[in-house]
Amino acid sequence: MARIVERVSLPSPSPGTARHLVVHRFGRQGARPRVWLQAALHADELPGPLVLHHLMPKLAEADRNDQIPGEIMVAPLANPVGLSQVVGSVLQGRYALDGSGNFNRGFVDLREPLDEAMAGKLGADAATNVAAIRTTIENLLAEHKADDESAILKLTLQRLAATADIALDLHCDDQAALHIYCGPRQVDAFADLAARLGAAALLTAEDSGDTPFDEALTRPWWRLIEHNPDKPIPADAMLSCTVELRGRADIDDAMAKRDAAAIFDWLQAQGAIAGKAPPTPPPTCQATPLDGVGPVRTPHAGLWVPCVEPGSAVTAGQIVGYLIDPMLPADTGRLALKAPVTGMMFARMRPDLAKPGDRVAKIASPTSIPERRGKLLGDR
Ligand SMILES: [Zn+2]
Repeated sequence: MARIVERVSLPSPSPGTARHLVVHRFGRQGARPRVWLQAALHADELPGPLVLHHLMPKLAEADRNDQIPGEIMVAPLANPVGLSQVVGSVLQGRYALDGSGNFNRGFVDLREPLDEAMAGKLGADAATNVAAIRTTIENLLAEHKADDESAILKLTLQRLAATADIALDLHCDDQAALHIYCGPRQVDAFADLAARLGAAALLTAEDSGDTPFDEALTRPWWRLIEHNPDKPIPADAMLSCTVELRGRADIDDAMAKRDAAAIFDWLQAQGAIAGKAPPTPPPTCQATPLDGVGPVRTPHAGLWVPCVEPGSAVTAGQIVGYLIDPMLPADTGRLALKAPVTGMMFARMRPDLAKPGDRVAKIASPTSIPERRGKLLGDR
């Protein structure tokens, strides 16, 4: 079946302007398994669009060979609103400049409404339950209203992805090794993806706070599972995670091509592409809890000068960089910042002026840290 390129219009934010999403559809429209792949929801995170650029010809070829039993939808640039936010020659794609916040927070939280809508409607057959839950999700999102442009964009993306079987949201960190965020119930599926991508960390949280895209898709299912232990609801009926494709500057054709091949193989292993996937390589990390991530924070403002590369194993107390106050004499103006935990330093802030309380490095450890509560992702 031929590839369809769909243009999804967004409401005009101001007279004389118009924006739209582009969605490439492979396979059979409406068939399953349905896959949603998106990149650059944080519009200034551009390794993802390059990976999808390399993945799409492979999907087109699989489609020509009739190897896509369901449907694979690809939105290579998921945030045309953010893409337009160039301030002083710098693309500012993380927060909406209209004040509506982080583009990857505040998706519609369907946990309560879905729970209420499904009360008394679940039966003894898993497939029937899954179909009924998907229809209800679709109806709830169809009823949902949004006003401002960012909210409409988020609702549009959520409507496109919410009834998929698989949804990957491709991001990147500031400077980082490849890492993945997913729910603890879906570790097995994403450990396979992590191994294929050579991830340095696979971070799990049931609820990291503020409803990012992947959790908006998965958490409503988990709430139903918790509240209906006697009813069969597969925990992987909606598989979704966030893949952090290293750092912002890691835009490289050869690397993106390898990542695209790994995602293709994983989709094949999941049954979204027919044929036998290459065997999973040995794991490059173990799953660790998101609340086990030890942040390195700055006690005061200063120049952040890191000395440990992302993707390095560190031990608690090890110096990972320095916070420098150039106004002070050199012997007093240099503070060593140390790893709070032993583990994998998977991401760091680029060398820059840091504010008090900035998280300048993140270290994945296998043990939950008691003080880490609430909004686990932070906002930076
Ligand atoms: Zn992001």
